[in-house]
Amino acid sequence: MSASAQAAPPAGLSALEARLRQDLQWLELPPKPWVAPRWHAGEPMADVVVIGGGMAGLAAATAMRWQGIVPLVLDRAPEGYEGPWATTARMETLRSPKQLTGPALGLPSLTFRAWFEAQFGLQAWEALDKIDRLQWMDYLRWYRQVLGVEVHNQHAVDRITPCADDRVVLDVNGPLGARQVHARRVVLATGRDGLGAAWVPPWANALPRAQWAHSSDKMDYARLRGLRVGVIGVGASSMDSAGCALEAGAASVDLLARRPDIPRVNKGKGAGSPGMTHGYVDLPDEWKWRIRHYVNEQQTPPPRGSTLRVSRHANARFHVGCPVLEAQSRDGALHLRTPKGTFVFDFVVFATGFRIDVDARPEYAPFASHIRRWADRYQPPPGVADDELAQSPDLGPAFEFREKTPGACPGLSRIHCFCYPATMSHGTVSGDIPAISEGARRLAQGLTSLLFREGIETHYRHLVAYDEPELLGDEWTPADGPVGH
Ligand SMILES: Cc1cc2nc3c(=O)[nH]c(=O)nc-3n(C[C@H](O)[C@H](O)[C@H](O)COP(=O)(O)OP(=O)(O)OC[C@H]3O[C@@H](n4cnc5c(N)ncnc54)[C@H](O)[C@@H]3O)c2cc1C
Repeated sequence: MSASAQAAPPAGLSALEARLRQDLQWLELPPKPWVAPRWHAGEPMADVVVIGGGMAGLAAATAMRWQGIVPLVLDRAPEGYEGPWATTARMETLRSPKQLTGPALGLPSLTFRAWFEAQFGLQAWEALDKIDRLQWMDYLRWYRQVLGVEVHNQHAVDRITPCADDRVVLDVNGPLGARQVHARRVVLATGRDGLGAAWVPPWANALPRAQWAHSSDKMDYARLRGLRVGVIGVGASSMDSAGCALEAGAASVDLLARRPDIPRVNKGKGAGSPGMTHGYVDLPDEWKWRIRHYVNEQQTPPPRGSTLRVSRHANARFHVGCPVLEAQSRDGALHLRTPKGTFVFDFVVFATGFRIDVDARPEYAPFASHIRRWADRYQPPPGVADDELAQSPDLGPAFEFREKTPGACPGLSRIHCFCYPATMSHGTVSGDIPAISEGARRLAQGLTSLLFREGIETHYRHLVAYDEPELLGDEWTPADGPVGH
């Protein structure tokens, strides 16, 4: 044990919270709200509505608050259950290294480490390998509470309609019923599938829906007890689903992967640097495509711990180079034909990821067809076609959507896409833990600039009307001319 590890006992959360209050006070955060108000039908409009109170929504809301913008945050999930961590995620620990500063926005006292050490001490921190998944959710709950981020939970945004008069109308359904919210700007902090949905291969349609699930579905894995389970894919979620099925007592779990081997190297992690975080957004299109396509093509390996969680079971089998050629349901069993033979399962879990597909989200219907995608303006060189990149929105500097046909959807640029599909335009700053603070600050600064420009007449009037004197006129006496004249 190092000398430092023997140091003082944990200071406790209340001490950390006192320090955080002090930090915020010293930094004069948050500043006073300054945005010029706008009204619609006699009601004040929301300056910014953030849809999603997960990590990205919380970080974005805080970064805005620290720019003097007060957003309205809505999330359809119950309080404390935003995002995947305590709902659909099944890994034991996060993949992300424990020391990442995540949504701390540059404040040491807001980091996971500070929160952890305050409660469990330095020795426990040094002993910690990876962050426990549910503990990460606890940290996010604390983050929200200690910063006073007001999230309106159980409020689903069912429809988002950009209007020609510089407004976006949101149809919101909450515990008190349906209502409309009028906003000047809207931020979609809607997560990994934030502009689409879970994806399954077309052959899934040949199987009875009761006998398959996507890895992101809410499901009690106890129902897999005694069953022959197939898991499609060998990424992180495949291991998590397979691990849960095995721990729930599945008779067997076969993981089937198209690719000839399981990837070993996490290229995305290797690419992380302040240069990439801040410089990617300004790269020429060719470089953005090259980088993102390479990372996509290499694919991300499942974490070692998650893979060992599966392989320690004798009834788990890994099959690579094993694409499903045909699927049939016969006599209550699922028959999947592959080049390595036909597998017979009772249940299949698709760990086949998510797809950008705006049409899959009814709330985006009023504007989905107007979003300019990369496919609308960029033709990649031969041999590097990439559907995910082609479908990605081609975003502006404040993550705002742009119109495919200028003038066809006024108000579209008032919707800002701060979720995973922004990656192609902005780099990995709008979802994952490593650079979420940088993304949130980029978004908040962009919104600040836009809201200031829009209110410039009011701000100019305030400038002209401002009359608080610093000199009272009694500090000096005007002289008559040069001395001795
Ligand atoms: C299984 C799994 C494991 C992961 N592990 C890691 C990891 O270890 N490290 C890492 O960096 N990243 C990981 N990720 C990526 C992860 O999604 C992000 O890091 C994190 O959740 C991003 O936060 P977010 O706020 O963007 O999205 P989320 O946490 O998903 O939050 C989005 C929120 O938007 C709300 N929402 C969406 N649509 C609407 C609507 N119409 N109306 C109202 N509310 C709405 C949802 O209810 C949700 O709470 C993982 C993802 C998954 C699925």
